[in-house]
Amino acid sequence: MTARTAPADHNAPPAPVWEAVVGQPELVTTLAHAAQDAGRIRRGEAGPAMTHAWLLTGPPGSGRSTAARVFAAALQCAEGGCGTCDACRMTLAREHPDVDQFTPEKLQITAEESLELIRRAAMTPIMGRWNVLVVEDADRLNEVSGNALLKSLEEPSPRTVWVLCAPTSEDVLPTIVSRTRQVRLRTPSGREVADALVRREGIDPALAAFAARAAQGHIGRARALARDEQVRLRRAEVLAIPGQLRDLPSCFVAAQNLLEAATADAAAITDALDAAELAALVRAYGEGATGAMAARVKRTAAAATKELEARQKSRRTRTVRDQIDRALLDLTGLYRDVLVLQTGAGVDLINDELRPALAAMAAHTEVPATMARLAALDHARLEVAASVAPLLALEALLVKLARGG
Ligand SMILES: [Zn+2]
Repeated sequence: MTARTAPADHNAPPAPVWEAVVGQPELVTTLAHAAQDAGRIRRGEAGPAMTHAWLLTGPPGSGRSTAARVFAAALQCAEGGCGTCDACRMTLAREHPDVDQFTPEKLQITAEESLELIRRAAMTPIMGRWNVLVVEDADRLNEVSGNALLKSLEEPSPRTVWVLCAPTSEDVLPTIVSRTRQVRLRTPSGREVADALVRREGIDPALAAFAARAAQGHIGRARALARDEQVRLRRAEVLAIPGQLRDLPSCFVAAQNLLEAATADAAAITDALDAAELAALVRAYGEGATGAMAARVKRTAAAATKELEARQKSRRTRTVRDQIDRALLDLTGLYRDVLVLQTGAGVDLINDELRPALAAMAAHTEVPATMARLAALDHARLEVAASVAPLLALEALLVKLARGG
């Protein structure tokens, strides 16, 4: 039963922690209110009933997992997300023992992984107020692993909150969707992304504007472009590829270069994560034990290290694929700009700084060839997502780009 709502503090601005969520006012309102209501429930006050299963949907880069983590912090914080207390800081740093953020490393979430999630969902919070389970890429739940979760989603422990993330609700099993409350994220505008980079990260406004435009609403990509000159250089190399495709050998060389650029971008992301995780593991196992106990700890630590390395390896593979997709999106943006110039559509160019080169491409090719190239890029993105060997997919793509379809 829903009791009468306590005097609302819903008119107050969202707690500080929500500032990390860019360009999603409706989502922030909904989730900040839910966190306030959850706080009331914990204090034993009357208020709306708790929603225990959420589904956050939005395109890649719209900030789904950031929104999920901020929501988790708002739930754990006594003040609904002050951003500075231990609960907030630990949650945002992914160190809170009662917040699990599960990122599938494989293309499908397995039944074993589902069982592990259910086991964690049944636990009582250790230090926090709620036991929060964030499942990224819930669209990777298949019939078996998804159905295993249904009961836990429908009747969770009283202190458990599920936060599932996916691109759209259509990508998620209907049985899961019907047991969750959906909140949608939209692609933030270039201006919103640029403003966030200037305000939160102190990026120079002109650079922020470029990064936001080049990233086409993908916040993580915009941040990487704004902060890392190497990422900007690699993007420029990718955009130079169409001009280098003279003959078949040049296509194969360019495919190799593209793969290397994506691998380097992926390493820039995963190397820091890998090192931090390994350091945390060493800290966890490295203290206190002596004698026979020390030997046992050493064996357990070796097993845990091995498991961590396997997980990191599959994350690297996945990240390389994600970065190839970013590169293909950059190329898609380039040919989209060519099409804009060819058709005289009066819209802004994504790659305005390349206007002379784009104008030359537009003048020397025809609309149908540009359309065919865009279709080839689309096809290659699907192939890479479906685990076709990346180099083969890229070689086939660049031959098509060279020939015009
Ligand atoms: Zn706090």
